Amino acid sequence: MSDNIIELKNLSKTYKGGITAVSDFNLEIKRGEFVTLLGPSGCGKTTTLRMIAGFELPTGGEILLNGEDITKYPPHKRPINTVFQRYALFPHMNVYENIAFGLVQKKVPKDQIEKKVKKVLDLVDLEGFERRKISTLSGGQQQRIAIARALVNEPEILLLDEPLGALDLKMRKEMQLELKAMHKELGITFIYVTHDQEEALTMSDKIVVISEGKIQQIGTPEDIYNEPKNAFVADFIGESNIFNGVMTGHLKVRFCGAQFDCVDDIPEGTHITAVVRPEDVIMTAPEEGTIRGRVDSVIFKGIHYEITVVSGKNEMVIQSVHSATPGNTIGMKVDPDNIHVMIAEDNTNIFTAEINKNYNLEYNGSEIAADITGIIKGSRRLEDGSVADARGEIVDTEKVRIEVAIKPQDIVMTDEHESGIVDGYISNLIYKGDHYSYVIHTDLGQDFVVDDEYLWNMEDHVGLLMDPSKMKFRVKR
Ligand code: ATP
Repeated sequence: MSDNIIELKNLSKTYKGGITAVSDFNLEIKRGEFVTLLGPSGCGKTTTLRMIAGFELPTGGEILLNGEDITKYPPHKRPINTVFQRYALFPHMNVYENIAFGLVQKKVPKDQIEKKVKKVLDLVDLEGFERRKISTLSGGQQQRIAIARALVNEPEILLLDEPLGALDLKMRKEMQLELKAMHKELGITFIYVTHDQEEALTMSDKIVVISEGKIQQIGTPEDIYNEPKNAFVADFIGESNIFNGVMTGHLKVRFCGAQFDCVDDIPEGTHITAVVRPEDVIMTAPEEGTIRGRVDSVIFKGIHYEITVVSGKNEMVIQSVHSATPGNTIGMKVDPDNIHVMIAEDNTNIFTAEINKNYNLEYNGSEIAADITGIIKGSRRLEDGSVADARGEIVDTEKVRIEVAIKPQDIVMTDEHESGIVDGYISNLIYKGDHYSYVIHTDLGQDFVVDDEYLWNMEDHVGLLMDPSKMKFRVKR
C-alpha cells in the first residue's frame, strides 16, 4: 500500500451561483501526517475539508482514500470525523451522553461505550467530567469534548476546521500544544484548517497555502517560511518586505533603487519579486549600506525593535536588537543568501498608485485617467467628489493603495521625458530577437521594463507614457 492515506486529484468545486471555491487541487497526504490548509477567509479551505468529509460533492476531480475512489461516498461510509469551530455539542445532554451519542446510534454494547468514552476523556485530559452539563464547561473544555466526541469513533482521519478559533489567545496556545501531543499519541492523520499562519507553522508537518481557490505552495513549515514560492505566500507567512525588481546581470538583482548580489540564477531582464525578511536586514553606517534611508519609526517589541525606514518610494521594515533614531539616515544591506528572488508571474510591471485628495488615481504626482469607482468594488462617487466604498464609508485616501499592472509592450518611451507619467534612465538593454527589452531606472526606486522595437542608448533619459486602458488595477490590502 502506498504511504498516502488521502489523495486529491484535480479536485474542484464550483457552487451553484458560479463561485469556484476550489480549483484543480492536487494534494497527497501521508498516513499519520499533520497537514494544515492555510489561507485567508474565503480561499476555499472549508470547502476542501467538507469534500474530504463527504458533506459536499466536488464538481470535478476525485478523492482517493487508501487508493480507493471515495469521491461519492456519503460521510458515514468514510473513516473520517470532523471537529468544527463551533463545538456543535448537544446542550441538553451531559458530557458522557454527548460523547457516547454516535456509538449509541450505532448500537455499540453499553460496556464498550463506557470503556471508549473513558479512554477519550483521558486523552483530552477531562477524566471524571462524565456527568457535567455542557453549559458548566469553559470554551476550552467544550472544545476538548468536541474532539473527544470525534475521536471516540476511532477515525483514521480527523478533520479540524478552525477548532481553536473561538478560544482566547492563551487557551489557544495551550490547546495547540495539546492537539500536537494528541496527534503524536494517536498516530492518526490530522487535516487542520486555519487562517492563522503562526498556528500552522507551530503545529504542522506539512502546510498547504491556499489563495482564491488555488494551491499556492505545499511544503514543510521551514520550506514555506524560508523559500516562499510567490509573493502571496511570502506576504501571508511571517513578516516580509516585498519589492518588485528586475535581474540586471548574473546573480545581480535590482530593487529598492539599488543593485544587490543574490544567489538565484535568473536570466537578465526578467521581472522578479524580491522578498527580504525584516530580521535579515543589517543596519550599517549610511555610506556602508547598499541602500540608504531615513528612519521613520521605531517600536520596541519586547525582544527586538521594529524599525521602519523609508528609502525613496520604498519602505523597509527591519527587526533588530539594536535600536535606531527616527529622522536619522542609515545604511542597509542584506546577505545574498537572505534575498529571496522569485520570477514574477510574467514580465508585467507592477507599481503602487495612491488616491489623491480629489479621489483620483495618482502616481509620482501625475493623475492616471482611470475611475476609481471602477476599481474599488461596490464604490460610488458622491456629490462632493469623494468616493464611498461598498459599506458606504468614505474611502480612506491615506490607507487605500491601488496596485497597477502594465505589460512591457504597453509602455511607450519618449525622449520628451517630462511628458511621461514617470521618467528615468535606461540602465539595461537586451536584444530579444524581434525587439529590445529595456530596464528604466527611476529615482522612485522602482524600475520599469519596457519593450520597444527601436534601439535606444544606455543612459538615455526617457519619459514613460502609459495608456490607462492598458492597465490592470487591484486594491491593495
Ligand atoms: P473561512 O475561513 O472564512 O471559512 P474558507 O477558506 O474556509 O473561508 P470557504 O468557506 O471554503 O472558504 O469558501 C470559499 C468560497 O466559496 C467563498 O467565496 C464562499 O463565499 C463560497 N461558498 C462557500 N460555501 C458556499 C455555498 N454553499 N454556496 C455558494 N458559495 C459558497
